[in-house]
Amino acid sequence: MLRFFCISSALLLVSVALAQESASPTEKPTPIPTPPEPKITVSSVPVDGPYIALTFDDGPSEKLTPRLLDLLAQRHIHVTFFVIGENVAQHPEIVKRAAREGHEIGNHSWSHPNLAKISDENVRSQIKRTEEAISGAIGARPVLLRPPYGSLTARQKHFIHDELGYEIVLWDVDPYDWKRPGPTVVTNRIVKETRPGSIVLSHDIHPGTIEAMPTTLSELEAKGFKFVTVSELLHMARRLE
Ligand SMILES: [Zn+2]
Repeated sequence: MLRFFCISSALLLVSVALAQESASPTEKPTPIPTPPEPKITVSSVPVDGPYIALTFDDGPSEKLTPRLLDLLAQRHIHVTFFVIGENVAQHPEIVKRAAREGHEIGNHSWSHPNLAKISDENVRSQIKRTEEAISGAIGARPVLLRPPYGSLTARQKHFIHDELGYEIVLWDVDPYDWKRPGPTVVTNRIVKETRPGSIVLSHDIHPGTIEAMPTTLSELEAKGFKFVTVSELLHMARRLE
């Protein structure tokens, strides 16, 4: 996204320069319009290959997350977990295992409120408490935040990004697995909608989602997709800039 911003800024400067050159001395130069603000959330990433990031929210779940970790380990696939602080506090060992096995751990708030509807002070507390729980479990602070429901005000986005130091990660593929449509529907939606650079949303707290994964992973692999963590995907985009 930064790339597009830079290109549009460059075009803007060129067009402003041309406008100024062609203006006669009596005319006032065209005022330079304010460039649009760069987006600070990411839903998918421009990449140069068949790379995608699977993400699993709302865990860790005592029973289901270890089952998912087993499946991913068998296939040598790395994903990103956006964990809830309360659940990390209950099962830090699961988060530790996920990190040890190469998965990325992101922050998904302490108790899953709609952050856009609570005070800045509470937003900070939701994020910081979770950050401490994750750091305690894995020995490193998370750098990605996914707001519950994808919901943040523009002002919150800025302080979470600029002051708290998070990349704000949304998604472009949503199988609505939380509505529990059954494993086949979850698989079909993911496989149909995923493109290179996609960030796929799902939840490791629903049995049907875990049941959907063996077929989903096989079908995505058959289409040539390669699985990376969200941070790996973001680094690929930066290399293209
Ligand atoms: Zn969630």
